[in-house]
Amino acid sequence: MQRFQCYIDGEFADGEARFESVDPATGAAWAEMPEAREADVDRAVEAAHRALYAGPWAKLTATQRGKLLYRLADLVAENAQKLAELETRDTGKIIRETSAQIAYVAEYYRYYAGIADKIEGSYLPIDKPDMDVWLRREPIGVVAMVVPWNSQLFLSAVKIGPALAAGCTMVVKASEDGPAPLLEFARLVHEAGFPAGVVNIITGFGPSCGAALSRHPKVDHIAFTGGPDTARHVVRNSAENLASTSLELGGKSPFIVFADADLESAVNAQVAGIFAATGQSCVAGSRLIVEESVKDRFLEILRAKAEAIRIGSPLDMATEVGPLATRRQRDHIETLVERSLAAGARLVTGGSAPEGAGYYYRPTILDCDGSVSPSLEEEFFGPVLSVLSFETEAQALALANNTRYGLAAGLFTRDLTRAHRLMKGIRSGIVWVNTYRAVSPIAPFGGFGLSGHGREGGMAAALDYTRTKTVWLRTSDEPIPDPFVMR
Ligand code: NAD
Repeated sequence: MQRFQCYIDGEFADGEARFESVDPATGAAWAEMPEAREADVDRAVEAAHRALYAGPWAKLTATQRGKLLYRLADLVAENAQKLAELETRDTGKIIRETSAQIAYVAEYYRYYAGIADKIEGSYLPIDKPDMDVWLRREPIGVVAMVVPWNSQLFLSAVKIGPALAAGCTMVVKASEDGPAPLLEFARLVHEAGFPAGVVNIITGFGPSCGAALSRHPKVDHIAFTGGPDTARHVVRNSAENLASTSLELGGKSPFIVFADADLESAVNAQVAGIFAATGQSCVAGSRLIVEESVKDRFLEILRAKAEAIRIGSPLDMATEVGPLATRRQRDHIETLVERSLAAGARLVTGGSAPEGAGYYYRPTILDCDGSVSPSLEEEFFGPVLSVLSFETEAQALALANNTRYGLAAGLFTRDLTRAHRLMKGIRSGIVWVNTYRAVSPIAPFGGFGLSGHGREGGMAAALDYTRTKTVWLRTSDEPIPDPFVMR
């Protein structure tokens, strides 16, 4: 069995314990993972703290930090295929997607490499004579990064890239489900030449590792991606160290289709939005809101496409839908589909697991018109689409906003003025018009409500990893006058 290690203070080390990682395509254990517990977490945070204030990292210029990031980007690009195979093996995400996604992850590091020496302070036009006052932008400090199983290299790149550009140091906790690609990525960090302790990568379980990390007294900021329930634990933990938080959580994103849309194109986007990555995507367009007059036609084309999807081994380039990452995840989907059918949803297609080994589940469509299906509110994080119809634009908007989440939305129409009206009215952090599931290092990403707060990607994300220091410098050689008057 392949063995992986943690990366702490520039060295590869076993954790306090070990656990087995399961291949979701077969249900069999394939690798041994290090399990970091409180003492490992403490060593990693102490190393990050030392690297922040002493040693070579603290003395590097911003341009030198950028050069290290460029080197890391090149190494990710060179090793993309190997990392993709590991991610596919350990999480079941299809190789078609992991190969493309990890090659693109290199572009995130490249983008933040370029930003490292463009993070500027500012000079203040202060309202007092003989004073120079300016703001320095300094790293926010030691950052705890906690990520879920899906797309770990991508979800960590949007944190590690801007944090390194800003000069922070960090402890990254890979998910206990499928940590192999992130533990392997640590070798590239090492090879790129980052000083010891700047980036530490560990894995372990929520209560014994994630909790110890997020409440550690030397952590200054927690960048978390995961579900809302875990986010509540993380925020409670941050009451211990008063660290700031950014939270990227789930979604129940609306996908609105008007009768005037290019239906073929919209169906393809809907397939991408709910069945790509086996639906294990935070921005999954999981609520189709379609104009009544085209509902039957749209569902007919969509059902045909869903039933033609190739389900198979995630390592096969021809596979379109692979297994869910864990048995727990498939059980959750099965139960939620059953509850939704019991609440009056109508099964259009799917609704069951295929025969055989592995945690597979068929692409599923539930027609929820006239029901109070829980599938309209609760996140599946799987290949299950819930459908509602509308007759007026106002109804479409009301249905789209009828959620406590607010991550993403899709809107399909050829009517430009309507697109502008709705784009303003939809409550979500991202709106895609006539496209879906597009991302870029240049474009901020994130939501509000149950979808969390904070943005990843873009220039502002690098600034979020800084804090300002106000410096006052008196330029007069005259003695300080009356000491009892505030200056
Ligand atoms: P999860 O919330 O169960 O776990 C996420 C991480 O938190 C894991 O590393 C886990 O070990 C850790 N954790 C668990 N308990 C903890 C605790 N008490 N303290 C600190 N850390 C703890 O999420 P998951 O089930 O692995 O992933 C699925 C969720 O992630 C979905 O809700 C999905 O929508 C969300 N997600 C959001 C985005 C986004 O960018 N908005 C992206 C991907 C996934």
